[in-house]
Amino acid sequence: MTAPGDRAAALDGNAMAGDLREIFAVDVTSARFMCAGCTHTDAVATLMLWHQAPGLVARCPNCDDVVMRVVRAPDRVYLDLRGSVRLEVPLEGS
Ligand SMILES: [Zn+2]
Repeated sequence: MTAPGDRAAALDGNAMAGDLREIFAVDVTSARFMCAGCTHTDAVATLMLWHQAPGLVARCPNCDDVVMRVVRAPDRVYLDLRGSVRLEVPLEGS
């Protein structure tokens, strides 16, 4: 298996701390998702939310595929974004 790029030049995940802090400090409901099932794109606020489960299950309003899951535990939150190709998060001042 070939490594993508030059591994010696790679940084560890701590190098993303500033960028991720900026992204996750915003209201994510205003971010735009792209559904992995049908490529439908819209604001996270438009997802259909099922909340009668141990966690929250957000489905695509176009194809009903699961786009994201959020499960709260006493000391952490699990965020599953497998159903989303990407999240587009607008930054303040842009
Ligand atoms: Zn979809």
